[in-house]
Amino acid sequence: MATPLEHAVARATDTRAIAIGEGALDRVGPIVSDLLPGRAAIVVADGTTWAAAGEATTASLRASGVALAEPLVLPAAPPPYASWDTVEHVREGLRAVDAVAVVVGAGTLGDVVKLASHELGRPYACVATAPSMDGYAAFGASIVRDGYKQTIACPAPIAVVADLDVLAAAPARMLASGVGDLVEKLPGGADWILADAVGVEPIDADVWALVQDPLRGALADPHGMRAGDPAAIAGLVEGLVASGLAMQAYASSRPASGAGHQCSHLWEMEGLGMHDDPPLPHGLKVGLGTVMLTALYEEALRHDLARLDVDAALGAFPSWPEVEARILAEGFSPALLTAALEQSRAKHPAPDVLRHRLETLRDGWPDVAELLRAQLLPASDVERLLDAVGAVTHPAQIGLDPQRFRATYVRAMRIRSRWTLLDALHEAGLLERCVDALFAPDGFWGRRPHPSR
Ligand SMILES: [Zn+2]
Repeated sequence: MATPLEHAVARATDTRAIAIGEGALDRVGPIVSDLLPGRAAIVVADGTTWAAAGEATTASLRASGVALAEPLVLPAAPPPYASWDTVEHVREGLRAVDAVAVVVGAGTLGDVVKLASHELGRPYACVATAPSMDGYAAFGASIVRDGYKQTIACPAPIAVVADLDVLAAAPARMLASGVGDLVEKLPGGADWILADAVGVEPIDADVWALVQDPLRGALADPHGMRAGDPAAIAGLVEGLVASGLAMQAYASSRPASGAGHQCSHLWEMEGLGMHDDPPLPHGLKVGLGTVMLTALYEEALRHDLARLDVDAALGAFPSWPEVEARILAEGFSPALLTAALEQSRAKHPAPDVLRHRLETLRDGWPDVAELLRAQLLPASDVERLLDAVGAVTHPAQIGLDPQRFRATYVRAMRIRSRWTLLDALHEAGLLERCVDALFAPDGFWGRRPHPSR
């Protein structure tokens, strides 16, 4: 019987092989020579990732008879940055040789080589050096261009190799980042349950299972992960890789990204932690977004939406010009403002659509609420899980002031047309009330004026 990951690879459009295990670096050569027979390879790394796995990757390729170009090794310091300049530099280095890239790295270098290879029309393979995010097997690269982080469509790697010995030696904050990126799939899945229930975006059961079935198991042993236990890290990296494959199969990030991710995207687009040394990893921001959204779900579930007054909600729902005026007053930079207006306009419902959605939500609420409760962990459990791996659970840990943090609950909704819990509450006229409750003295955030550690 196929394992879940083999099943995922069968559905993926670009990725043909996944190898995760202790000593998996030995598999790089056999996989590359099998999938790309007769092609030469060039190992791309930076000083740090070369030290972690460069030589073993090279040795495995050589042992399988793969012809090798001189490796392209970027400096370790400052660490490479996923900017357009780095992509151009790597692309020109690759252009000079007739070889497919085997990137040894994590999110940044992986995305740079993904885009550079795509621009040259070449496949590439990836050797993971940290269990830090779910992008290894995902399509698309996150690159900063003109000061803004954007996701550029480009194919996923033909193979991903993750050696648990290498991953266990990665810096602790990279592992913490991976846990943050993975745990968001709990409230992110809840967002898809809601969107499915009101007819916005039906759940694809196969893709859902790829992400959600292994999720709780993958997050079950945070202390083992932190101690470098290979079985615990294997669960984490399998969960992350499966999420990437799910996005590949679904050609969208919906299966692996909900409103908790949108909080992180907003902060990323506003440059939060971008110039820290080292830069603040994606998953640490996503982890905090996960606590935010899980707490908001708890607040939402205190309301009995089976008794929602649909006529009153429709009467109170702002018109598009009113929403536009609010967005203009929410402090977006000019470039982000354009995106916020476009994305919000795209999901602003016509009155008949809104009536149908609210009635569907009201009538289906008892069942939907039960599904949501089964999907979610308590917010305090999410907080404990993230604390256990040294991830971020409080805005003060990453320099977000209280006002900016609180405003994220509304502003994150504006920047993406994806429909989530934030939109459901906004449409039902409950978003402000729920956020107020979270920050009241006895609310989730009101009880947490400072970080717990
Ligand atoms: Zn992510």
